[in-house]
Amino acid sequence: MKIGAHVSISGGIQNSVMNAAEIGCETFQIFTQNQRQWKSKIFSQDEIEAFKSSRRDKGYNSVPLLSHASYLINMCATDENNLQRSRKALVDELRRCDQLGINYLVIHPGAHSGKGEEWGISVISETINETISRYQPQVEILLETTAGSGTAIGYRFKHLQKIIEQVDNKSKVDVCLDTCHIFAAGYPIQTKEGWESTFSEIEQSFGWQKLKAFHLNDSLKELASRRDRHAAIGEGHIGLKSFEYIVNHERLKDTPGIIEIPANQNADKDNIELLKSLRFE
Ligand SMILES: [Zn+2]
Ligand SMILES: [Zn+2]
Repeated sequence: MKIGAHVSISGGIQNSVMNAAEIGCETFQIFTQNQRQWKSKIFSQDEIEAFKSSRRDKGYNSVPLLSHASYLINMCATDENNLQRSRKALVDELRRCDQLGINYLVIHPGAHSGKGEEWGISVISETINETISRYQPQVEILLETTAGSGTAIGYRFKHLQKIIEQVDNKSKVDVCLDTCHIFAAGYPIQTKEGWESTFSEIEQSFGWQKLKAFHLNDSLKELASRRDRHAAIGEGHIGLKSFEYIVNHERLKDTPGIIEIPANQNADKDNIELLKSLRFE
């Protein structure tokens, strides 16, 4: 696996590359703007150049880079205004990724707010279809697995399969698997056997070839808790053995694995070193 972390863009988008290199990232993830605001930033030519040249200088041209979409976007918002605002914001996210040459945009599928999963799944697909017809992106959308808190969709692989089935341009929609989320959703990945049964369930739903990235987070909450609380690697209920299995997986050699533990740069650096030390080599 290519190991990296979510890094800050504060002080300018190009700083993210430096931040990533400093803590030993082999790939990394960013927000392309403040993730809790609706404003729609577009990068200047200078910013784009600065980002691209640092990416090249630091050796990140041959690995996929990720962006995480704003938390405000709900692809199946029940309120019409909110839905339109989400769709517009998604177009802006895709556009910013393309400006920077980001490879994958990770997004949470959405929350149906009581309207039901079937309804949510069809509105999410409609949002993706509408968005992609308005703006044809280079970047691929990665639907992220969720813990299933509240009315969130995406805590079963079948949800993601059904969304993708209803998307017209399937080549633009793949999956990002978050270890903390799927564990909280009830997939028993704390053991090798659990990973194997999880992978066979993936095979039977959206399919292995759709699995393009991982979020590597341990879980503060127990199996099937449906609560999304990230823990540092090896300090939660998933445990080191599970991460050792996944970072050494033969089929995931070039797949990005991103740590998302809200702490500080030093903690990220330690977690990256720890994950790298689990490699058999
Ligand atoms: Zn995640
Ligand atoms: Zn999470």
